[in-house]
Amino acid sequence: MRVCVNLRNEPTGSSESERPSSVVTKGVPPPDSCNQLQPEKPTSAQVRLKKQIKVKEFLVAEGKGAHGWAARDASGHLSPFNFSRRVPRDGDVTIKVLFCGLCHTDLHVIKNEWGNAMYPLVPGHEIVGVVTGVGPGVTKFKAGDTVGVGYFVDSCRSCESCGKGYESYCPQLVQTSNGVDLLDGATTQGGFSDVLVVSQHYVVRVPESLPPDGAAPLLCAGITVFSPMVQYGLNAPGKHLGVVGLGGLGHLGVKFGKAFGMTVTVISTSPSKREEALDRLGADAFLVSRDPE
Ligand SMILES: [Zn+2]
Ligand SMILES: [Zn+2]
Repeated sequence: MRVCVNLRNEPTGSSESERPSSVVTKGVPPPDSCNQLQPEKPTSAQVRLKKQIKVKEFLVAEGKGAHGWAARDASGHLSPFNFSRRVPRDGDVTIKVLFCGLCHTDLHVIKNEWGNAMYPLVPGHEIVGVVTGVGPGVTKFKAGDTVGVGYFVDSCRSCESCGKGYESYCPQLVQTSNGVDLLDGATTQGGFSDVLVVSQHYVVRVPESLPPDGAAPLLCAGITVFSPMVQYGLNAPGKHLGVVGLGGLGHLGVKFGKAFGMTVTVISTSPSKREEALDRLGADAFLVSRDPE
């Protein structure tokens, strides 16, 4: 209920509860025309209309109140933001957020450096938390499970990429933060908040053996490095791996390489990275790329 009050206090009309209708109704017949369209197979307009009606249902029944940190302009500053998560749909998981990593993509989006920021904007897509509730049809998770959510929270689920498990290439990918929900048109808000509602298809299990804070960066930076290393056979013991640059992804490249049993050389422009590469991360060798020898 606290969130209801806060939403009404939003001065600009840009709260999540008001944004969707203007987005989803674009180009869609008004509800009164529904009865005029009764072919056996629903037309695409009808499908869109059903989605529009669903939006109204969601808006009438407000979801769980959430408290987060949002960017409201391109200044780079975040400030407290109260909003409402969606009412859980079939297959949705409700998550209490414990930790969220900070990816450089968040910084680009917060500052609108890619020109696509939809303020107010809650960043964060390296999320680890605990399941607090599951909706009808959830089979993969139960309350109490430690889980993670990465860069995206929905996709079309029917294209070739989705069929192969490469949802990240889906043309209708919905980003976890600053994305557009495929059903209700709301702006998705990320993990710099206390609660998340996500379809179980886009939630991964975090093993109990992993510290949840350390696991969070694996949800974007980690998979960005891990996936191509495995795909191109760089996970074989005895192979030599060169990691160019130690600035985030490089850290993970070194750690994965060592975990795979590889001999790892860090190549950096900065001699000051030597100690971190060799002593902290366990690389086998260190080269300064500017060294003429
Ligand atoms: Zn990221
Ligand atoms: Zn798809």
